[in-house]
Amino acid sequence: MLPMVEKDTPVLQEEAQRLYGLLGNVSKTKAEKWTLQDCLSAAPYTLAINRIKKEKNAVILAHSYTTPDLVYGVADFRGDSYELALKARASSAEVIVFAGVWFMAETAKIINPAKRVLIPAGKAGCTLADSMTGLQVQALRAKHPGVPAMCYINSSAEVKAACDVCVTSGNVFDIAQKMPGNELIFVPDMLMAENLENELKRRGTPKKIIADGGSCCVHDKYRPADVAQLRAKYPGIKVVAHPECAPEVCRLCDYVGSTKGMTSYVASSEDNLFGMLTEMGLVNRLEAEQPNKKFVWPFGICSYMKKNSLINTFEALTQPRADQIVQVEPTIAAQAKKTIDKMFELAV
Ligand code: SF4
Repeated sequence: MLPMVEKDTPVLQEEAQRLYGLLGNVSKTKAEKWTLQDCLSAAPYTLAINRIKKEKNAVILAHSYTTPDLVYGVADFRGDSYELALKARASSAEVIVFAGVWFMAETAKIINPAKRVLIPAGKAGCTLADSMTGLQVQALRAKHPGVPAMCYINSSAEVKAACDVCVTSGNVFDIAQKMPGNELIFVPDMLMAENLENELKRRGTPKKIIADGGSCCVHDKYRPADVAQLRAKYPGIKVVAHPECAPEVCRLCDYVGSTKGMTSYVASSEDNLFGMLTEMGLVNRLEAEQPNKKFVWPFGICSYMKKNSLINTFEALTQPRADQIVQVEPTIAAQAKKTIDKMFELAV
């Protein structure tokens, strides 16, 4: 359903120019940047969504991995899981529209049970969050009685409910150090678990990490050969990775950190050519916000995140489908909230 906006009106042209000012340096594909024509096509939606969100007292949170027309066209806040969880917690809006994947919208609902939470992409999955169930965590805990259990925020509400504390890529190492004992259960990212064990050893606070789950299909695709090829082709390039990448890749990189950490690293670096072993959306944000830096393709693409669009954001705001309305079973939500609150408490 197309929003009712006249074609070629001055308002539409002005909105397209606004978008083009933000997106003109941003890659749409390997060979193309966003064009004024792309922005003209997006403008009817951004105008309508921005008007409707005010009428409905809604706030739009967009994960950096969603598309730039959402991130810059309609989002009130953009960021990674942790930044958006904080914004969701502080929001006074009646409606939260979370452009991201299901576990993120679920987290927003757990933190804000009285609010209406909508997700444009419906039940968009995540290879990490979908790799483990709450029952599997309970079975793992039964095998290791007394060992605290920590889950990455990229997990379902059921998994969070079965753990003691939740973490993000930005606070995983610090919070792990604060957990009691020499052993720690960590789910559901097997690669981050290895990176965690290595980092705790490096910090002189080793723990045995008991891990289960899967991996992120975007970050797990990078191999040591990719780093070698980047360095051979672009001498002096800085290679930056997310801790969801494999340890053998991370140890070859110049910097490994969360989305926020990678952004700060690029901003503070005197170098200007970077190979980013992460999702394309983050590179798009860097292109928009740090236009003096250059980034080398290929970037990973998360097909789950890219299910969010201006069209389904408009639909979610106007006539949400059942799968766009986020509900979490109250007992699970209450237990998962304790796990998330523990993260807020330990992250300070
Ligand atoms: S990038 Fe990876 S961890 Fe993030 S939503 Fe996509 S599959 Fe999940």
